[in-house]
Amino acid sequence: MTMDRRRFLKLSGVSLGAALLGTRGIGSVRGAEDGLGMLYDASRCVGCRACQMACKQWNGLPPESTDPQGLYESPRDLSAHTWTLIQLAEAEVDGERRQGFLKRQCMHCLHPACVSACPVGALRQTEYGAVIYDAERCIGCRYCMVACPFGVPKFEWEKPLPFIHKCTFCEDRLEAGLEPACAEACPAGAILFGKRAHLIAEAEDRIRNNPDKYVDHVYGKEELGGTSMLYISPIPFEALGLPILGPAPITELSETVAVYGTPSVAVSVATLLGGLYYWFTRQEKKLRAEEAARQEEKEAEP
Ligand code: SF4
Ligand code: SF4
Ligand code: SF4
Repeated sequence: MTMDRRRFLKLSGVSLGAALLGTRGIGSVRGAEDGLGMLYDASRCVGCRACQMACKQWNGLPPESTDPQGLYESPRDLSAHTWTLIQLAEAEVDGERRQGFLKRQCMHCLHPACVSACPVGALRQTEYGAVIYDAERCIGCRYCMVACPFGVPKFEWEKPLPFIHKCTFCEDRLEAGLEPACAEACPAGAILFGKRAHLIAEAEDRIRNNPDKYVDHVYGKEELGGTSMLYISPIPFEALGLPILGPAPITELSETVAVYGTPSVAVSVATLLGGLYYWFTRQEKKLRAEEAARQEEKEAEP
């Protein structure tokens, strides 16, 4: 993905600031055997949504309106313009009514179904464990949306030439030696960023030292072969809204879906996708050229 001048200057400025001030950089983590991750502690979250705001600010995402329906969530679900969302849940634990927040975003699965389902390699995993998207390659088939068990990739339904959007794990910030914007913004220490292995040890320590406070499970440690986003919670994860999943990765299944099982069908699908890709690329170039011409006309206007 190319970096525009504004983003480059922003990153350069922040990196320099971090270096000068000695703030929490991650330069030393790069190249580590285990990947990076974030631990969200639902018992510490106060629901302030500073993480949501920070994500929007860093990624230049527009605000979205929400119909007032008595719900805490605003907006109601993840979207192409909202890559992380704080949700509120309630459940009865040992006869006691408990509330808990849930921060939703891409889980950055260690075996990402979206990556294996994408027939043109528009999604890929970086050395940090971030699962990122390349709009240049995307043909708009939306297999990734179908394959993701967490309902994360979202489509720009409102656009004539739509793309997929989702949390990038602030890959540009990781590259610059910074922690994700949402983790940096949290005033309650509910989001801890670091090496995944360290985060798991920290999560297990918290549970061991506070058995009455937490459900005895680190969500994401083993689900679907593991995810970079990890959760601990005072209420059961299914009540929080996270799906109950086994330890086996579903990448094999999504690969099977992507090629439809038999070699002959796979060849036909590949041919069809190749044609579609060619058509979409031509359309995209045409639309971009038209847009550029419109822009030039506008600028030439007195
Ligand atoms: S949560 Fe969904 S979009 Fe994110 S890496 Fe996993 S499968 Fe892909
Ligand atoms: S990691 Fe970055 S892109 Fe993902 S939710 Fe946090 S701020 Fe948004
Ligand atoms: S910034 Fe921290 S405390 Fe506030 S909603 Fe996000 S995770 Fe919760």
